[in-house]
Parts: sequence; structure tokens; C-alpha cells
Amino acid sequence: MDFDYDLFVIGGGSGGVRAARIAAGEHGARVALAEEYRMGGTCVIRGCVPKKLMVFASSFPAAMEEARAYGWSADVGRFDWTAFRSKLDAELDRLERAYRSGLSGAKVTVYDTRATISGAHEVTLATGETVTAKHILIATGGRPYVPAFPGSEHALTSNDVFLMDALPDSVLIVGGGYIACEFACIMNGLGVKTTQYQRSAHVLKDFDAEARDLVEAGIRASGIDLQTGTEVASITPEGGAFRVVTKDGREAVFGAVIHATGRVPNVEGLGLEAVEIALGPKGQIPVDDWSQTRVPSIFAVGDVTDRIALTPVAIREGHAFADTVFGGTARQADHALVASAVFTQPELASCGMTEAEAAARGPIEVYSAGFRPMRTSFAGQPDKVLFKLVVDAASRKVLGCHIVAPEAGEMIQMVAIAMKMGATKEDFDRTCAVHPTMAEELVTMRKPTRSS
Ligand code: NDP
Repeated sequence: MDFDYDLFVIGGGSGGVRAARIAAGEHGARVALAEEYRMGGTCVIRGCVPKKLMVFASSFPAAMEEARAYGWSADVGRFDWTAFRSKLDAELDRLERAYRSGLSGAKVTVYDTRATISGAHEVTLATGETVTAKHILIATGGRPYVPAFPGSEHALTSNDVFLMDALPDSVLIVGGGYIACEFACIMNGLGVKTTQYQRSAHVLKDFDAEARDLVEAGIRASGIDLQTGTEVASITPEGGAFRVVTKDGREAVFGAVIHATGRVPNVEGLGLEAVEIALGPKGQIPVDDWSQTRVPSIFAVGDVTDRIALTPVAIREGHAFADTVFGGTARQADHALVASAVFTQPELASCGMTEAEAAARGPIEVYSAGFRPMRTSFAGQPDKVLFKLVVDAASRKVLGCHIVAPEAGEMIQMVAIAMKMGATKEDFDRTCAVHPTMAEELVTMRKPTRSS
């Protein structure tokens, strides 16, 4: 049977665009891609990129305070959200254009419309047109999840933050994951009175407890009113603001409420029933290690598969799919030792196992150094950083590395290479220190802090 295309990709985010570009540009496949919103997906349009720019914007008051301690007469002045937003919009437009030109350069046909699956080799566009393809790749990503409660429709999500016309005077951030903690720090840094409600006893519960505790302390020390064990029962509009009642009966009024209570795979109305693909327990599209669904011609990559919801992982999955199916090189995306960073202030970055995970697996040694770094210590600030290695007592391999420090994300990228190569504690030890840096602690921790 003749198909219109070799590959039809649904979704123009990180995973979909990478797969389309590699399949068409490097392997010569005839590829089409449909995107119903803006090219670039969550990462570029309403995630990593605008978030990181807001992290930079929010860091200046602290930098100015530090500058004063170093002898500068510096004043941070007033933050102009409108000026920042127009620059942000222009930057996102530029990135979207770059994504589009990458696709056209690879000769990918782009449909700026919604596509749904109508058969194992067929998609239907919102225009009613049907298109056939030998393979279909679902890369529709995820979307914010807000639990149902009275007034939940008044809650903003991470999708809305970058589109706000003005910053509120006060904000409630609900949640304690990556997004909630990052936005709490951003809003606080931008001068918004910030409260954070987290239902569990701690934020960032999947991270190493010692590292997480330090971030939690930093969040509180920065002036954010973090209230753990707290859940929202209702939101009621009140004179341009919002009254929030908690499940334990407390009440407070905020200029805006932002829910960052997790994300769910984007599968609604995708037509999966037409091909009898049943969803997994988290609403995800089940795939095997080759990103293949139960229908041999249909694959899925990225957040919609709920493996590791990170941009670089989706890119790897999309690339491996394209090489396997169109490039004659069978290759699986490697999900082991994926490092990540939470862009809080202070930043938290980690790779590999937490101390608790490693200890449950066998005997370990923990090397941990918590201290006040030279730069902020000189400025008289109480900030502490943490460098921590979790080591397998028998093989001596570094099983986990956890860093809480400015630019921790930049540091963990380097450590991840060593860990991926199977570095032992002794490999770290024979690496000479770079002095004076914070990261030299990674190679100078001689005695274990504890063993278990
Ligand atoms: P997370 O899964 O990290 O956190 C969800 C948070 O919401 C948790 O604190 C959870 O509480 C809370 N929560 C869940 N359900 C409810 C509920 N019904 N009521 C109240 N609270 C609730 O999700 P995020 O949305 O923060 O991030 C999604 C994913 O996006 C991340 O896992 C990550 O992979 C990715 N991401 C990565 C970033 C990075 O690399 N820097 C940045 C942003 C996102 P509890 O802890 O009790 O379960």
C-alpha cells in the first residue's frame, strides 16, 4: 500500500520535532508533523525556557544585596513585568521560528492543526482531511493537572504564568514538586509576597532527603511562607483577589493562586480508541523499550508515555525511534542515570540514587559536605551548600550525587558523565581539586560521613 508519508508525527514539542528532523533530514524519510498550538511544545513555549528566563530575572534582588555587601552602592529598583514579558514573547517567537526553520530545512511538511488517529496508518486533521502514513509517532506531551474542588477553575497553572498581564501583589503556589518550588522562588524573587502549600510533610519528596531539607530551609529563609501538610479545600473570588480555605479550615486571601500539582499525559481526543490502545494507570500511552505501542505502526515518545518527564529524555527517545525505524540502527533510549536540576534558589541537582534508595539496595557509604560558600559567607549571608556522594560499599561505584548550590545544574552535568562511565569514589579522589571552588568538595571528601 502507498502511504502519503513514511512518518506522521503528532505534536511539535521536543520529542516530536527531534524525531521528525532526524527521520527526514538524516534518514531521508517523507515526514509530516501536526501541531495545533505553537511549535516547540511545553519546554520552549510554556516550560523550561521561559521558566529559566524568569529564574534569571528573579535572581537580581539577591545579587544586588550581595553587591552591596561587596562594597557596591547598588539598588535593584523596580521590576517591570511588562518590559520583561515583551522581551520574553520576542524570545519565544524567535525560538519558535528556529524550530520551524529546522523542520522546513529537513523538508518536513508541517500542518498547523490538530491531528487525531483514525487508523493504524491514518490520521484525520481538524480540517477533515485524512492523511496516511506507514508509521505514526505520538508526541503530544502532557498538561497541568489541577485536582477537583470548589473553585478549582480559579486556579492558574504553569501554562498561565507566562501570559499574566501583571504580577499579583501576593500569590499562593500549591504543590511541592519541581514546578511549585521553582515558581515559589521565582515569584518571591520578583517581589511577590509568596505562600506555598504542600500536602505532604516535605517538598521535593522524590529527592535525597538531606538535599531536599536544605532546599526547604532555603525556601523558608528566603521569605516564602511554606506550609506543609496543607491542602486547598476551596477558592472563592473576592474583590479581584481569591479567598482560599484549607482542608483544616484556615483561610487567607491571595492575589492569585497557581496550582503546580503535577502533570498528566495529553491523550484526550487523540483517537486512541480507534486503534484500541488502552491507557496505562497514570493515563499514559504504554510503550515498550523501543517506544512502540501495541499497534506495530504507532509509536509514542516523551511526556505522553510518562517515563521520565524531562525534555532531554523526550529528545533522546525521539532520536532513538527515528534511527531505529528509518536509519537502520536499532537503538533504545537509555533511561539510566538521567541527571536533573530543580531551579530553586538554592538550586538542587541530582544524578542517580538517593541515600535512602541506595541503602535499601545494599551497604553504602555516604560522603557529605555542607558548608557556607566563600562568596555569600563574605557577604555575611547564612546560605549553605551541600555536596553529597552516595557510594556502593562493595564496588565503590558512586551511585548517587546530590548538590545544593548556585549553578548546581551546571555541576551535575559534569558529574553525570563520570557516573555514566562507572566512576568509583577512588576515581573522584584521584582527580585533583580546582581551588578555590565549591565543587572541589566532590574530590576532597576523605572520610565517610556515615555508612549503612
Ligand atoms: P511533581 O510530580 O514534581 O509534583 C507534584 C506536586 O503536586 C507534589 O508536591 C504533589 O504532592 C502535589 N500534588 C499532587 N496531587 C495533588 C493533589 N491532588 N492535591 C494537592 N497536591 C497535589 O509535578 P510538577 O508539576 O512539579 O512537575 C511535573 C514534571 O515536570 C516533573 O516530574 C518533572 O519531570 C518535570 N519538570 C522538570 C523540571 C526541571 O527539570 N527543572 C521543571 C519542571 C517540571 P506530594 O509530594 O504529596 O505527592
